[in-house]
Amino acid sequence: MVVRIVENRICEVCGKNEAVVLCNGCDKALCEDCRIFDLWAYGCGSGDSKTFCKKCYDDPEINVWKGLE
Ligand SMILES: [Zn+2]
Ligand SMILES: [Zn+2]
Repeated sequence: MVVRIVENRICEVCGKNEAVVLCNGCDKALCEDCRIFDLWAYGCGSGDSKTFCKKCYDDPEINVWKGLE
């Protein structure tokens, strides 16, 4: 389980909405508007999902899987 759920926290990116998950890169709390879900499938239908903020999603050192596409 790599997507971590948070409760009773405000999004640390926009500071407006209630956070729902933590970024897998920088551990910031993210709301539904600020999170980016990504899903990598490995072969026979199994997958691994991660959640990033916009900044980490675009950082190849954090989102290393993005470069493997
Ligand atoms: Zn937000
Ligand atoms: Zn992040």
